[in-house]
Order: sequence, then C-alpha cells, then structure tokens
Amino acid sequence: MTQRIWNFSAGPAVMPEVVLEEARMNLLSLGTTGIGIMEHSHRGKAFLKVYEETEALCREVGGIPANYKVLFLQGGASLQFAMLPMNFLTESATADYLVTGSWAEKARDEAQRFGNVHAACSSADKNFSYIPAGCDYSAAPAYVHFTSNNTIFGTQFRTEPTPPTDAPLICDASSDIFSRPLDISKYGMIYAGAQKNLGPSGVTLVIIRDDLIERGRKDLPAMLRYQTHAKNDSMYNTPPTFAIYIVGLVMKWIKSQGGLPGIAERNERKAGKLYAYLEQSRMFHVTAAPDSRSLMNVTFVTGNEELDAKFCSAATKAGFDGLKGHRSVGGMRASIYNAFPEAGIDALIDFLRAFESENG
Ligand SMILES: *Cc1c(COP(=O)(O)O)cnc(C)c1O
Repeated sequence: MTQRIWNFSAGPAVMPEVVLEEARMNLLSLGTTGIGIMEHSHRGKAFLKVYEETEALCREVGGIPANYKVLFLQGGASLQFAMLPMNFLTESATADYLVTGSWAEKARDEAQRFGNVHAACSSADKNFSYIPAGCDYSAAPAYVHFTSNNTIFGTQFRTEPTPPTDAPLICDASSDIFSRPLDISKYGMIYAGAQKNLGPSGVTLVIIRDDLIERGRKDLPAMLRYQTHAKNDSMYNTPPTFAIYIVGLVMKWIKSQGGLPGIAERNERKAGKLYAYLEQSRMFHVTAAPDSRSLMNVTFVTGNEELDAKFCSAATKAGFDGLKGHRSVGGMRASIYNAFPEAGIDALIDFLRAFESENG
C-alpha cells in the first residue's frame, strides 16, 4: 500500500487508522453475516444493532442526557442552517446570531428568509480574527445561535455564550464537536457535519432537546421536520448507513483515548506545541487573537504572499498535505482535529523550523 502522508485537510479530514482498519475488515462481511456493512438493509437486524450501538456510544461519549434525541441526518450542517429557522423561527419573531465567521454568516443568512435576525455580536470588523467578549441580545430571541469553532478563521469559543433565560442555545459544532468535554444541558440543540471530528461526510449529528422538537412547526415537509426524524429514529427514509457505522467506530476510538477528557488533553498538547513554535517564530505569525485561538484549526501567515506560496509548495513536496489557508484568510491553515496524530505536529514543527532557517 502507498504510504499515508500527513493530512491537514479541513474536512473531510484524517480518520483514526484503527477505524479504517476495522471498517476494511467489515466491507465484504460485517462480522460473520456474509454481507458487507454497506450492503445491509437499514431495517435488518445487523444494521439495527450497529445503529443502536452507535447511538449508545454517542450518548456515553458526549454525556447526552435522556431528554435529548440523537439524530443522524443528511444534508450536512448546511441543511441545518435552514431547518433550524424553518422549525423554530416565525415571521414576527427574532433569532439572535453570534456572527464570528463565514459559517456563522451562512447560518444567519438562511434564518433571514424565515423571520427577523439580530446580530448579538460580530467580529467582521477584524476579518473574524477574534471571539467578541460580550453579546448584546434582543429582548426575547426565539433562539441564540453560535458557531463554537470557526474552521476558516481559526478561532474558537472557550466557553458557551450565556443566552437570555428561556432562549434555547443552538450550536453549530461541526469542527470541534467531541474535542473536549461539553455540558449538553446548556443547549437546546447541537449539530455537526461528521466529516471533521466524527467520521466521513454524508451524515450530520443532531443532538436536540425533546421539548424543542415538540415546539417545531408542524406544516413543513416531512423531511424538514425534526419531529419526523425523532419519531422514526432517523429512519424515516434510508439513513446514511455506512457513515453511521463509521461514527460508531470513531466513538469507540474516542473511548479508547480516555473519552472527551483524554481527547481534550491530547488536543491541548498538540495545538499548544504548534502555537508555541509559531509564537517564537520570526517568520510565521498566527492570525487569530491569543485568547480566541482554535485547538482545531491553526491559521498562520508569513505576511508575504509569495513566501506563503513557497512554503505551501515545499510542504506539499515534503508530504504535508492540505496546509494552504482558506482564500478569505490566505497563508496557511493546519487542521488538527481529534484524529490528527501528535507525531504529525512534531513533524510539521521540524519542517517549519527548517524552512524558516533556510528562507529567513
Ligand atoms: C464544514 C463546516 C460547515 C459545513 O458543513 P457541511 O456538512 O458541508 O454542510 C458548517 N459549519 C462549520 C463550522 C464547518 O466547519
């Protein structure tokens, strides 16, 4: 087999190797069933067992209370941007959005189609390089939406914002879900496209409180109602069976790493090393404000576009893939989600140091 390289992709992203190995073993036959994991009916006993295990593992790993449903939906986080206001925002009501990056803006834009939107805070003035310290909420928001990790700009909330009483807190956690312990009971709903921290693309994890599901608008098409998916255990239509299976394996892997506390410790160590190098570097500079830096996406520049480009092409040649920054920030971005190995961080730091001494 071709040797695997260091994959810094922002998503779909690197997966734990043990997960890929186990999946490979079950592609032609899931256990002793004689039928591959992708070939089992979603209504059959074998897949239902996979489904139940995956859900139970998500609940265990995430500490998800009994009064929350765990849904496995399709359409990515992007469909949640629309489903959320469709279900919970009415024309005369206002939803509050914390505008801290491009994904947050996209979520806000979808809400504007269905009701009023209030920006409780924004960091657009400095190209989303920081998380605002405070929020100015509207009088009685239908809900408050924030993006816990801003994948493109390399910023991350340290703790949840505190919405006004009674307003459900809704979070797009696509790029940092299960990267650290979280208190689900603070949220009305958390959602995440799987392709960064949970598994392959094609499934979206939605954790939603029962009373919120009940409040959802009833006259929407079936597929766009949380009620439909909750009532049918995410099997109103054919769910993304293979992706759900892989999410289950990733949950087992998280458990083997000490659960969310163990993963969090590892993530802090990984990002800590990289930021420490960049801090003392004379060539590379972190774009995110010190108190807002993401442990998942590390964004940095040299300040010289030609040198950035030279670095990216040298890095690719040396076996570091996916380091080119998003066009709205430029420079470089190292996406180092849960599954990114610590050895890859060490290798990158060695490479940064060598590049700096040759080109400084
Ligand atoms: C990647 C990403 C999205 C988009 O997810 P899709 O599954 O492609 O719709 C949304 N929000 C955040 C924070 C992301 O990182």
